[in-house]
Amino acid sequence: MCIRSCFQSSCLQWVWRTAFLKHTQRRHQVAHRWTHLGGSTYRAVIFDMGGVLIPSPGRVAAEWEVQNHIPSGTILKALMEGGENGPWMRFMRAEISAEKFLWEFGRLCSEMSKTSVPVDSFFSLLTSERVKQFPVMTEAITQIRAKGLQTAVLSNNFYLPNQKSFLPLDRKQFDVVVESCVEGICKPDPRIYKLCLERLGLQPSESIFLDDLGPNLKAAANLGIHTIKVNDPETAVKELEALLGFTLSIGIPNTRPVRKTMEIPKDSLEKYLKDLLGIQTTGPLELLQFDHGQSNPTYYIRLANRDLVLRKKPPGTLLPSAHAIEREFRIMKALANAGVPVPNVLDLCEDSSVVGTPFYVMEYCPGLIYKDPSLPGLEPSQRRAIYTAMNTVLCKIHSVDPQAVGLEDYGKQGDYIPRQVQTWVKQYRASETSTISAMERLIEWLPLHFPRQQRTTVVHGDFRLDNLLFHSEKPEVLAVLDWELSTLGDPLADVAYSCLAHYLPSSFPVLRGFNDCDLTQLGIPTAEEYFRMYCLQMGLPPTENWNFYMAFSFFRVAAILQGVYKRSLTGQASSANAEQTGKLTEFVSNLAWDFAVKEGFRVFKEMPIKNPLTKSFHTCARTQSQWIPTGTRSYSSILEASPVHTSKGGLVISPEGLSSPVRELYHRLKHFMEQHVYPAETELQSHQASAARWSPSPLIEDLKEKAKAEGLWNLFLPLEADPEKKYGAGLTNMEYAHLCELMGTSLYAPEICNCSAPDTGNMELLVRYGTEAQKARWLIPLLEGKARSCFAMTEPQVASSDATNIEASIREEDSFYVINGHKWWITGILDPRCQLCVFMGKTDPHAPRHQQQSVLLVPMDTPGIKIIRPLTVYGLEDAPGGHGEVQFEHVRVPKENMVLGPGRGFEIAQGRLGPGRIHHCMRLIGFSERALALMKARVKSRVAFGKPLVEQGTMLADIAQSRVEIEQARLLVLRAAHLMDLAGNKAAALDIAMIKMVAPSMASRVIDRAIQAFGAAGLSNDYPLAQFFTWARALRFADGPDEVHRATVAKLELKHSA
Ligand SMILES: Cc1cc2nc3c(=O)[nH]c(=O)nc-3n(C[C@H](O)[C@H](O)[C@H](O)COP(=O)(O)OP(=O)(O)OC[C@H]3O[C@@H](n4cnc5c(N)ncnc54)[C@H](O)[C@@H]3O)c2cc1C
Repeated sequence: MCIRSCFQSSCLQWVWRTAFLKHTQRRHQVAHRWTHLGGSTYRAVIFDMGGVLIPSPGRVAAEWEVQNHIPSGTILKALMEGGENGPWMRFMRAEISAEKFLWEFGRLCSEMSKTSVPVDSFFSLLTSERVKQFPVMTEAITQIRAKGLQTAVLSNNFYLPNQKSFLPLDRKQFDVVVESCVEGICKPDPRIYKLCLERLGLQPSESIFLDDLGPNLKAAANLGIHTIKVNDPETAVKELEALLGFTLSIGIPNTRPVRKTMEIPKDSLEKYLKDLLGIQTTGPLELLQFDHGQSNPTYYIRLANRDLVLRKKPPGTLLPSAHAIEREFRIMKALANAGVPVPNVLDLCEDSSVVGTPFYVMEYCPGLIYKDPSLPGLEPSQRRAIYTAMNTVLCKIHSVDPQAVGLEDYGKQGDYIPRQVQTWVKQYRASETSTISAMERLIEWLPLHFPRQQRTTVVHGDFRLDNLLFHSEKPEVLAVLDWELSTLGDPLADVAYSCLAHYLPSSFPVLRGFNDCDLTQLGIPTAEEYFRMYCLQMGLPPTENWNFYMAFSFFRVAAILQGVYKRSLTGQASSANAEQTGKLTEFVSNLAWDFAVKEGFRVFKEMPIKNPLTKSFHTCARTQSQWIPTGTRSYSSILEASPVHTSKGGLVISPEGLSSPVRELYHRLKHFMEQHVYPAETELQSHQASAARWSPSPLIEDLKEKAKAEGLWNLFLPLEADPEKKYGAGLTNMEYAHLCELMGTSLYAPEICNCSAPDTGNMELLVRYGTEAQKARWLIPLLEGKARSCFAMTEPQVASSDATNIEASIREEDSFYVINGHKWWITGILDPRCQLCVFMGKTDPHAPRHQQQSVLLVPMDTPGIKIIRPLTVYGLEDAPGGHGEVQFEHVRVPKENMVLGPGRGFEIAQGRLGPGRIHHCMRLIGFSERALALMKARVKSRVAFGKPLVEQGTMLADIAQSRVEIEQARLLVLRAAHLMDLAGNKAAALDIAMIKMVAPSMASRVIDRAIQAFGAAGLSNDYPLAQFFTWARALRFADGPDEVHRATVAKLELKHSA
């Protein structure tokens, strides 16, 4: 059965694959089974719940912590905190309500981890419907009861907010249920064990108790109960088997008696098999049905000591291409001849009179199936060997010459990926229920990135670890199963598909993954290594675009999940399950999109930089018209670009002089602005005026993903701060100046490309000064565009243009800093995505003037941060980030959140505000260019007093004046940026101050002229001019008051001339 048909099942416990040959026998199972003492005197088995019958809270917590970036072990530590009188134990004795528990527990976790911990979300996961009993335990309980023994569950559990006790088990499986919250007593209190024994009517020595916690087991053992420590349910069941003296699993794994509706005529089958196998006498034909295999019903047969498997088409009318068991038979037969390990197929019977439909028969093949891809219980070297064997067998499949084994017509030649994408897009569209933005982006992106060269080989189509049957004693693949999706195609799709588990969490309900495990510790090769291993074995060059193949594989899975979701909505599954499946589609499509983004960056980063480093200034001239949104512009006269007129080292005054990869990036950005940004402006502006304005616009979020995929992301981080290009695109300040100007032509582009203030300054601050822990906590989500941040310095009661005036206090208290202060004009603080406030305040009012201030990283969900009101700029709110007035009252922040150290706030502010502030100047040039372009278009088309406005002399003068002023300011911006690159921010202080003095006023004048040319329309929201004007004016404060920059320029001028 392929994944498609697995998903046809109605709930989330679908398994992915055929069970028909799968045998989950563990190493040493036989020894365990046959060496027990037999004839045991036990009369009951008592099970703990969490960690024995269902996953333990500790395990659930570990996964949840990874997914929520919470320090590992926080939850477990907090669960144990306070021992008997801690919140967890009191909760389990029902001494406190769920609400009180969550409050106390949340506080405890936050204190321990020094970060806010959303314990509600952990609690929801812990008690969610996804928590299910381990199948191996269900089977064991059935067998124990079938032998006449009693079963009990003895659980430390709690009451849910709906006043029901938390017991996600079928109570009918147990003769006795003892719950701590009902009794008001918890394990390891001996009274609760005695209560359980009393209800069972047994002596301690007559029972066996299974628990995962040492103290609970010790208390039971002290009473004389036999105990089994449960680390892994399957191993524990084996131990229990040995004690009880009978098997706890059904003979052939994953089988059951044949369902009434699935019965097949035994007599005609027996006759057929006798003929086929040449057998005369037989015992009775034993027939079982495999649990799964709903697509093609699959049966286990035992006849005359032969173990066989029969796989047939389902009854009824079938689609021509579906349930093609003939193909499965054909490929297995062909591949067996080519030395690929596959089950030994015996016969294909197309005569429907035997069992009602065509079928084929193969030998039953015992072996090990590793269902959990993290391979628990194995040594790292064994795990590596298993994955190497998997890789080797895949190479073996892909090395088969289709022609030589008669499979040349088994599928179409070439274009496998385009055909697959087309098929899955069609299937997705057919089952679409709502727009999933990641899917939309992928549908657009995939065809644009099809691999240029594709090989054609036999492909399995569903190649995963749990479709392989391994030898029980060595890392050798005995058989590759599930050939339903096999065809001829691009083999790299199989390689990528076999790495899905690398990127899925272990709690993923459909396919278990291990993205939350440490692969190095486990010994499992990373996906990249796995690809490398494959290429090496196949003698191929490294697969550079493997991210594309991963994106494609996850896209395909997402499309399948959507189909399942659609079907589940038709009523076959519970609504909770249906909702869960819907979320899975989105989750997987986002994973696919992450790979698309990585591929975008790879393409960009691998562009060769051909230009030599030169330190001379260059002016280039070539008359050239450059596009801007509403007309054409020719903003500079430049020479033909030559390799020396490049961005690395030389002053480049036109984008055409940039090095070729940066120039290509510039053009990509330009195209992106034209295709996506300008057309979205009206909608984005409407959102800012709507009732929903304090929530981020979904369109912005969508465009952010598009920008990411184009590699138009985090362009701002200067190479000098990030020389290894670890975090950003590695552009110089001067290269970025050209791109930043282009982004500045729209008010929305900077955020779309994750290049907007104040996040850029804060990210740079973290890159330059943050500790590794601070980077992990704050920088990464900011770089990913998942979080936003603000910078809090300005205070209403003091003149904040002089930072030494800042009065907010930062006081030490135990291992915390406590902050108190009143701030305003804090840009971005109202944004619901804002998670970090970079706070400036005084740690030591008695220190020298420039060492009194410090910078602290304050999580926005810390208690005591009170937003008083949003401020407006000429009536504009600038939602959703806004500019807030905020009170900080006794805000406690862990000491580790201090940046660099106490008293170093000034140093940081200078580092932060250097490049960050010149970005505003770069954008102001962009505002001005757009305003001038709009003006030119307008005056050409509008007629007053008998002739177009453009022919009025004053207009010509205004246009000329604006062009000249823009060019002057641009040159100064580029010069400042260039000096910052060559000599550092400090040496460029004069140029930085000069451009900050010049750019906002220049932009205000240029935009004002454009507004004037537009008439009253220029003041409206129909054009971006009014907003441009507002921000240009505001930047004469926000970027530091003009007077302060003038004072700096004058001071330096006087110093130099002295
Ligand atoms: C849209 C916007 C966004 C902002 N975002 C932030 C933010 O995110 N975080 C933050 O902390 N702050 C922010 N600010 C505040 C901004 O940084 C301050 O307004 C600026 O530093 C000036 O401080 P102030 O308003 O206290 O003016 P004051 O310090 O009171 O200065 C008032 C005026 O005095 C004059 N003056 C000052 N110094 C001199 C001098 N040396 N010589 C002559 N005259 C002088 C100037 O005319 C100046 O404008 C923002 C402001 C705006 C408008």
